[in-house]
Amino acid sequence: MKIIPFHKPAFGHEEIRAVTETLKSGWITTGPITRTFEQKFSAFVGARYAVALNSGTAALHLALEAAGVRAGDEVITVPFTFVATSEAILYCGARPIYVDCDPVTFNMQPDQIEKKITRRTRAILPVHFGGQACDMEPILEIARRRKIKIIEDAAHAFPAKYKGHYVGNLGDFTCFSFYATKTLSTGEGGMLTTNDRAAAERVRLLSLHGIDKASWERRRRGDWRYQVVALGHKYNLGDLSSAIGLAQLAKAQKYLEKRRSIASAYNQAFEDFDLLDRPTVLKFNEHAWHLYAIRLRLDKLKINRDGFMQAMKAAGIDVSVHFIPLYEHPYYQKHTKLKAANFPGVQKFCARIVSLPIYPGMSQIEVRYVSEIVRRILEKNRKRR
Ligand SMILES: *Cc1c(COP(=O)(O)O)cnc(C)c1O
Repeated sequence: MKIIPFHKPAFGHEEIRAVTETLKSGWITTGPITRTFEQKFSAFVGARYAVALNSGTAALHLALEAAGVRAGDEVITVPFTFVATSEAILYCGARPIYVDCDPVTFNMQPDQIEKKITRRTRAILPVHFGGQACDMEPILEIARRRKIKIIEDAAHAFPAKYKGHYVGNLGDFTCFSFYATKTLSTGEGGMLTTNDRAAAERVRLLSLHGIDKASWERRRRGDWRYQVVALGHKYNLGDLSSAIGLAQLAKAQKYLEKRRSIASAYNQAFEDFDLLDRPTVLKFNEHAWHLYAIRLRLDKLKINRDGFMQAMKAAGIDVSVHFIPLYEHPYYQKHTKLKAANFPGVQKFCARIVSLPIYPGMSQIEVRYVSEIVRRILEKNRKRR
């Protein structure tokens, strides 16, 4: 039987050669290759500065620190995301304040933000779900007017555009993830972009123990001395990872086009099919297609999502769920007052959302097979009245 995994990394001889050359160079931790990766990445998205970090979570944490978020502050975000988004806020001793998501784009509802703002609000942290940007204009406008910072969780949104501008150049800080399944992967890794020079320097300092001169700079200057000037973290990205990142970056556009063509093949295959809802792309967005998330029409089906996922698995296709809302996790049930009933938008889709495989290595035959199996399983389980 054909097995189609949910994700396959798109690494080729370019990545292998880059890693080999870095290994042979004798310098594998943060150094010249990481600096080049940062420069090329910031140029790609049109941001002035980029700092490479060892995870997207680290990028979120340092963005919040650089934005001045401290214990007792509040940060407005969403419950429909990966846990890292809230975790980073909690690391700062701050309180996440949650707003509902739009039932069609799954993104933060801008009109729900203002009423949650208090004198403790320091930042808004929207998440660009699946690779489609939030409607940023109203969010940026609120932030400007209320003098609070915007930190974007863009873990899914490379490369994505909002009204012609790349995500990475919209809010005060943008946080990308290069985790194994993301659209650009270094195995583990992340990137923070900003146009604020002082903030970028602060993030760089905090990313490596609060040491004023990283060891690469010291070696270059022939000076062994350094000073610790802040309480920092161990969040730097090494040159081995950055070498992979540079090779991936060079193929980012090609890979985006590949994912786009898969999304459009799925869209066509599910056109006029009433047992699922296809993803909706707002007209001002260019989707990164990290995820292709369908919503099952459970009202017309005899099976639930688990039943659908098991049937897909039995046909050799791995599918996945993004995400389990935060309030369904025991830790958040125990430590917050989050309640499903307060998020009617999320409730409209969270039990019926399923992510289908979408990655550059998928063949047209595989995409067609997935589409056919999805249709066949759902048709077989149509409710008769
Ligand atoms: C993957 C992901 C992160 C975290 O990225 P890591 O690089 O794994 O730390 C954050 N937010 C969202 C929405 C993600 O999907």
